[in-house]
Amino acid sequence: MMNPPSPQTETAAPRLDFETQIDRLAQAAVHCGLGLAPGQELVMTAGIEALPLARRITEHAYRAGATLVTTFYGDEASALLRYQHGSDSSFDAAAGWLYEGMAAAYKNGAARLAIAGGDPALLAQQDPEKVSRANRANSRAYRPALELITRHDINWTIVAAATPAWARAVFPELEPEAALARLWAAIFAASRVDGPDPVAAWKRHDAGLHARADRLNARRFASLHFRGPGTDLKVGLADDHVWLGGGMQAHNGRYCIPNIPTEEVFTTPHKNRVEGVVASTKPLSHMGTMIEEIAVRFEGGKIVEARAARGESVLRRLLETDDGAARLGEVALVPHSSPISAGGRLFLNTLFDENAACHIALGQAYATCVRGGDQLSQEELAARGANESLIHVDWMIGSGRMDVDGITASGAAEPLLRQGEWV
Ligand code: ZN
Ligand code: ZN
Repeated sequence: MMNPPSPQTETAAPRLDFETQIDRLAQAAVHCGLGLAPGQELVMTAGIEALPLARRITEHAYRAGATLVTTFYGDEASALLRYQHGSDSSFDAAAGWLYEGMAAAYKNGAARLAIAGGDPALLAQQDPEKVSRANRANSRAYRPALELITRHDINWTIVAAATPAWARAVFPELEPEAALARLWAAIFAASRVDGPDPVAAWKRHDAGLHARADRLNARRFASLHFRGPGTDLKVGLADDHVWLGGGMQAHNGRYCIPNIPTEEVFTTPHKNRVEGVVASTKPLSHMGTMIEEIAVRFEGGKIVEARAARGESVLRRLLETDDGAARLGEVALVPHSSPISAGGRLFLNTLFDENAACHIALGQAYATCVRGGDQLSQEELAARGANESLIHVDWMIGSGRMDVDGITASGAAEPLLRQGEWV
C-alpha cells in the first residue's frame, strides 16, 4: 500500500516521470475505476485543460475494446462569459437536450467517466442569485440522466486532472509551474498510481474498504453520534441501510470504483432522524463559490438554523433548493490518517477533500445504500428514510478531534472513531 504523501516520502521515493504517471492514471481510470467492457461505449466530460489526460483515457478505452468514446469538453472562461454578458433569462436555461442524449447513451449501455478539477473559486465574484438559479436549472435538467448513475444502472467513475487555476488555489505560495507539478503529484499519490503496480494497489485498497463496510453492516447501528469542536450530532441511519465503500457491481454487470481517489465508507441517514449541531471542518467549494465555517442545527432531520462565516447566502440558497436540500442524503466515515488528509492540504475539491475527512451530504441519498434499494420505488425508499433532492453536496465535519460512536437499537454506544482514528 502507498505511503501517505509527506515531505520526506515525496523526496525519498523514486519519482516516475510525468508521462508514465498520467498514463497510469488513465489506465487505472479505465480498468479499475470504470471497468470498461469490450464493445462498450464511453461518454466522457472534461475541461479543455484536462485534454492530455482525456486523450490518454481515450487511448486506454479503445485499447480495452470501447466501440466509441465521445467526450464533451467544457471551458471555464466561456462559463464566466455567461455571467458577464448573458441575459437574465440565461440563468434559468440548461442544456436538457444534451442530458437527454447522455441518458439515452446510458440506456444503450454506455459507461460514464468525468474528469474533475478546475478553479474552485471560478464563480466566487458572481451574483449568488444567478449562480444558484443556473445550478438549479442544470440540476433539474440533469436529473433523469443522473438517476441512472446514482442507481448504478451503469459503470461510472470520476478522476481528477490538475489545472493551473486549481493548483494556484491549493499551493498559493508556489510559482505557477511548481504548483501545477505539486498538484499533479498529489493527484497521482492519492489516486494510487505512483507505485509499481497501480491495478494491484487498487485491488488491495478496494478489499480493505469492503472489509470495513462489512464490519459496519454486521453491527446494524441505529444511529451515529459525532462529537467534536462545535459538533454534537446524532445521525439516525435509514431502515435497512447498507454501508458501502470502494467498488460495486453496476446493474449492467460491470464492476466499477465510482471515485478515484476514494477512502470513505458511507451509508444513507434517515431523513427525519438527525438531531443536534454540526460545524464544518474544511471550507466547501461549491460550484465555483467558497462556503466556510458552516454551523447548522438539525431538528427532526431538517436544518433549522444555518450560518457560515463566508458564502452564507450561497448556503442558504442551496438549502432552499427543495425540501430535501436541508436534509441529509449521506454520512461517511474517513479516518483522519487518510493519505489525502495526511498531506495536510485542503484541495478545495470535493473528490479529494471528502476523502480526507468524515463528511455528510445534503440532499439526494444513494438508493444503493438501502438494502435492495435499486428495486424500490421513490416512495418505498422515502418510507425507509432515504432523502430525495435535486442536490447532493458533501461537506467535511471530521478532524483529528472528532469522536464517533455507533449507537445500537437498544441505545448502547460503541466507539468507532477516537480522535479521528478507527478504534
Ligand atoms: Zn461521500
Ligand atoms: Zn457524497
